[in-house]
Amino acid sequence: MKYIDEFQDPELARRLLDDIHATVTRPWALMEVCGGQTHSIIRHGIDQLLPDEVELIHGPGCPVCVTPLEVIDKALEIASRPGVIFCSFGDMLRVPGTGRDLFQVRGEGGDVRVVYSPLDALRIARLHPDREVVFFGIGFETTAPPNAMTVHQARKLGIRNFSMLVSHVRVPPAIEAIMSSPSCRVQAFLAAGHVCSVMGVQEYPELAERFRVPIVVTGFEPLDILEGVRRAVRQLESGEHTVDNAYARAVRPEGNPAARAMLEDVFEVTDRAWRGIGVIPDSGWRLSPKYRDHDAEHRFSVEGIRTQEPAACRSGEVLQGLLKPHECEAFGTLCTPRTPLGATMVSSEGACAAYYLYRRLDMPTAAAREASPVV
Ligand code: SF4
Repeated sequence: MKYIDEFQDPELARRLLDDIHATVTRPWALMEVCGGQTHSIIRHGIDQLLPDEVELIHGPGCPVCVTPLEVIDKALEIASRPGVIFCSFGDMLRVPGTGRDLFQVRGEGGDVRVVYSPLDALRIARLHPDREVVFFGIGFETTAPPNAMTVHQARKLGIRNFSMLVSHVRVPPAIEAIMSSPSCRVQAFLAAGHVCSVMGVQEYPELAERFRVPIVVTGFEPLDILEGVRRAVRQLESGEHTVDNAYARAVRPEGNPAARAMLEDVFEVTDRAWRGIGVIPDSGWRLSPKYRDHDAEHRFSVEGIRTQEPAACRSGEVLQGLLKPHECEAFGTLCTPRTPLGATMVSSEGACAAYYLYRRLDMPTAAAREASPVV
């Protein structure tokens, strides 16, 4: 069977697949929330191993992809200021803002540095007390705790020249927004295991009940994903809609209490814009008033920057599961990892990049299908 011998345990993979094939009786659409899961699915051909009835829709769980253009533009503005050292994880440097990216700011003389931890940025701030050091804090519930801890440390140690440009997002409100959309086709979710390892699963039963949708907490290895699909399909076929933890080796129901306490201390819930999707109520975090002195947006007065998303990139539809990457007219032609039009082609977790990297170039694009429709 295609791909399956590359699995860590091919025999178990076959058993899981056999179970899914034996269980399914009609079409179902499942959304994997996390971009890491999307890459695992495409890389290992899991979508092609599943029965035709089971469709995997790729969700909005790539942190780089959902960071709105306007936040990138704020980062570019701050990084261009004299005296600023702007620190970021490497994958944000190539994300296009309006007209340029952080690499270009660095080429123009800006002090933009790649770090591997927010604490690296804090160390740089201690080494350069005469400079303003800014860390670009983006991502989901997974990256938020170390960022929160870094701001907490900065305040505790009195490192006043350190601030953070915060654009954190939360998964449950995104699930709510997806399920509330009139065009939603999702019938079950594979929830992101690493998010639940921090936050636990308490936020999901209400969503599962309200939208009558199974939510299966799922890991990232190919076998984890097959197990998550198997459990979701079993629920769908039997008319159930419960929260099921298929990643118990990493996820406790209560999550990580220490990390959650740190989040509650440093951040407060706020409305947040998602790239290509728009504002989702209560879907983000910002620094709470106690830590506002370390808020880069406030310190550099960039709150007023407003940017329109470019029309050419359809990443908003990709992120909502309304469009597969190869169905975008620009996929693989105008838009490639070397010439990205949108963040979903830049990020290592972006769905467009996954399709480009793992052999999906041969899939017909929307334009090609229109030119030669199947009859
Ligand atoms: S292929 Fe490129 S232009 Fe199309 S949605 Fe993806 S990132 Fe945007």
